[in-house]
Amino acid sequence: MEKLLPRFLDYVTIDTQSDPKSNTTPSTEKQWVLAKKLVLELHKIGMQEVSIDENAYIMATLPSNMEKEIPTIGFISHFDTTPDFSGYNVRPKIIENYDGKEILLNTTKNIVLSPEYFEDLLQYKGQTLITTDGTTLLGADDKAGIAEIITAMEFLIQHPEIKHGKIRVGFTPDEEIGRGAHKFDVKKFGAEWAYTIDGSQVGELEYENFNAAGAKITITGKSVHPGYAKDKMINALVLANQFLSLLPPEETPETTEGTEGFFHVHHISGEIEQAKIELIIRDHDEEQFQARKDLIKDITQKINSKYPDSVIVEINDQYFNMKEKIEPAYHIVEIAEEAMIQLGIQPIIKPIRGGTDGSQLSFMGLPCPNIFAGGHNFHGKYEYVPLESMQKAVKTIVKICQLTGEKF
Ligand SMILES: [Zn+2]
Repeated sequence: MEKLLPRFLDYVTIDTQSDPKSNTTPSTEKQWVLAKKLVLELHKIGMQEVSIDENAYIMATLPSNMEKEIPTIGFISHFDTTPDFSGYNVRPKIIENYDGKEILLNTTKNIVLSPEYFEDLLQYKGQTLITTDGTTLLGADDKAGIAEIITAMEFLIQHPEIKHGKIRVGFTPDEEIGRGAHKFDVKKFGAEWAYTIDGSQVGELEYENFNAAGAKITITGKSVHPGYAKDKMINALVLANQFLSLLPPEETPETTEGTEGFFHVHHISGEIEQAKIELIIRDHDEEQFQARKDLIKDITQKINSKYPDSVIVEINDQYFNMKEKIEPAYHIVEIAEEAMIQLGIQPIIKPIRGGTDGSQLSFMGLPCPNIFAGGHNFHGKYEYVPLESMQKAVKTIVKICQLTGEKF
């Protein structure tokens, strides 16, 4: 366990930001640097069948140490960090025995991590916090997950008295740009189920996520001299505004929570001749999700009935709620839940307002709930992770391996 922190600190100082504009896998060359390091480390701790493919997907095996046949299970994390915030030159700060007060992250820029704004901090009084220096993200999402999985595997290797079946480990690039699962070889991985270690605070256990789609709306107008435009001009900008005004104003990210779905307009551009709107559609409920997509089509029709062929809409599904794939194998959630309870960790089971690699993997045949990695405030300069939370994640992974061995 003593290697957990140095391992984590080592990984976060390597910049692995992914890039949605790139078509390669991994999307950025620099992700290889950490990927290659992880391969060496997996070898070093004594993992078997360590492999890395041409897309930088890493897999490794901890062989079973039991006589009887046990289902193979897996643990998965991603090594890229979000393109939304700099991950270059991360200089983590370690705050031991946190006193529950403001933390000055950066003296020159006066950047403060305060429990007044981030109340969760108060749960960690007396613990060791790892924060940023206020200029970058930390990368606990998801390098904490990787450090935890490797440390758990090392622990199991050093403690052969703990009985377990075959364990598979998978590390992926490009999760943050929605492509972490795309080139994941589920067959090669060969696990009956797996867990992504990619959640936030201690106890999080998630097996429900959004159904997700993206819509691109292209509006074609007709430009005419404004002085002579009566009954001739069609202003694409005005139609774009009409389109948006027909979306329910109370169903946006900033007005919803829990299992409430939304429309989120994230891009508008245009001029009189042409305007473009991009939005995303999210809903946990499948029927509601469909209804949302139908509403977009209805609005399109409505405007087109007045201005024929002016609006073209393209809707693409992005990912689906993994609940339908997990519920038939619900014992995989129960094992994780029981592992936490045995360790004195209160499980927090709640729907994710987003997606995970696991949701895609679940639809690729690998049911894959998500477990906490311990960090908070992902994707920005206020990101932090308590060391104790990371240690609890390691113990949870070990316990899940052990319980799976006992139960099957
Ligand atoms: Zn993540």
